Amino acid sequence: MEDYSPATGEIIGYVPKSNESDVDKAVSSAREALPNWSSLTHIERAEWLDKIADYLESKYEEIAILESRDTGKPISLAREVDAYRSVKNFRFFAEMIRNLEEQHFDMKDADNRVIYKPVGVGALITPWNLPLYLLSWKVAPAIGMGNTVVCKPSELTPMTADLLMKAIDEVGLPKGVVNLIHGDGIGAGAPLVAHQDVDLVSFTGGTGTGASVAQSAAKSFKKLSLELGGKNASIVFDDCDLDKTIKGVVRSGFLNQGQVCLCGSRILVQENIYDEFVERFVNEVEDMKIGDPSQEETKLGALISPEHLSKVEQYIEIAKEEGGTILTGGYPCLPKEFENGNWIAPTVISDLDISSRCSTEEIFGPVVTIHKFTTEEGAIMIANNTRYGLAGSIWTKDLEKANRVAESIDTGMIWINTWLHRDLRTPFGGVKDSGIGREGGKWSLGFFSETMNICTKL
Ligand code: NDP
Repeated sequence: MEDYSPATGEIIGYVPKSNESDVDKAVSSAREALPNWSSLTHIERAEWLDKIADYLESKYEEIAILESRDTGKPISLAREVDAYRSVKNFRFFAEMIRNLEEQHFDMKDADNRVIYKPVGVGALITPWNLPLYLLSWKVAPAIGMGNTVVCKPSELTPMTADLLMKAIDEVGLPKGVVNLIHGDGIGAGAPLVAHQDVDLVSFTGGTGTGASVAQSAAKSFKKLSLELGGKNASIVFDDCDLDKTIKGVVRSGFLNQGQVCLCGSRILVQENIYDEFVERFVNEVEDMKIGDPSQEETKLGALISPEHLSKVEQYIEIAKEEGGTILTGGYPCLPKEFENGNWIAPTVISDLDISSRCSTEEIFGPVVTIHKFTTEEGAIMIANNTRYGLAGSIWTKDLEKANRVAESIDTGMIWINTWLHRDLRTPFGGVKDSGIGREGGKWSLGFFSETMNICTKL
């Protein structure tokens, strides 16, 4: 398969198009490696994770360059977020697994000993927006807990998954512990999820795909984690620190061209600061530099594919039909080399009904809608008025109010006066159509293992 640059539209690589028989080979290889790998101690496996982290750290700049070329994101973002977190994920889980202890629950006449056993062969399926960041988030805890895995990255962004396999080869990880299949969702992803010898599926991607993955996995009761879409609200109260809030809400709306599941794509602003907020917000958005992803000062790059660009454009058309006002947007003026890339300027839309399609459906691009609210209850009602429930942010100096509102929002995560401020020990995941299960810290270790209780009568 051809791999295209989102920024220029040119072919930058070729990828094998794996099929069902490749999936079979990869799963058998994982199955064969399982007994030896799972018999290592946690400490031995943690050492392997550290070796992979060391190798990736030595390729830090290469990861950033590949990720920026493959996804169209700015190089500075690929360094700060993608390269940084890919190394950190391995280091973090190495440390957690090294310190993992058995739990004991004493009774008067018996001892309960809780141990963690591997689940078996895991299928790890990841999307294109944060390719190595999300793949390493799954591979590290999965193999750290003694499973062997088959990875399936998005066909649109195969490059850093390939680099990870080189890292794994270079450090000498036993063969078969980590396997990779390239290919598309139907030809490679679906047979992997359905494979009878796969015991666990960790999937990050769209809600529609997640539903078919869940159906397929349910047939053989595979252990399942689904991290799906989002339509997150940023709630701005009139007592916020406006300077910091505007910067935070712009970042949350447009990081990675709005292609982060956690992005705050619905901005709810209290009525008495609404006009001032909107004016200053739009100015700040228009100041963001869009263009060549390889340039240090670039803040916004290209969208992932022509198909995705067209989906985003359609939503902007729908917003117009729904009565929305486009406060800023359109197409950026770029040098000729980018004329075949997937470009669109950051777009801010007001005057939409809170139940309109653009205000409730995931667009997953550089498009935000702005809404006015009067009371705390009103803000909560709008925030919850969507089928998604992944994340959100609240901006106010009143922390009591912020916590009260946070607890009323139906999501898995809320940030107060910040956004995407991650402590890897905390649970990550959503409710409603944003998925099932939690990963992160001990929740990842729990998901990638089977806990077993051994009760001994004294
Ligand atoms: P998709 O659901 O289209 O694809 C995700 C992965 O699944 C890709 O590797 C894809 O392969 C594969 N796939 C596609 N069809 C199947 C199938 N039938 N069976 C098994 N695997 C399949 O999502 P996108 O790649 O478009 O990613 C964007 C979505 O991901 C957004 O909705 C976003 O919100 C969500 N996301 C959620 C996150 C979270 O943590 N909650 C984090 C990041 C993104 P291929 O691409 O080759 O077709």
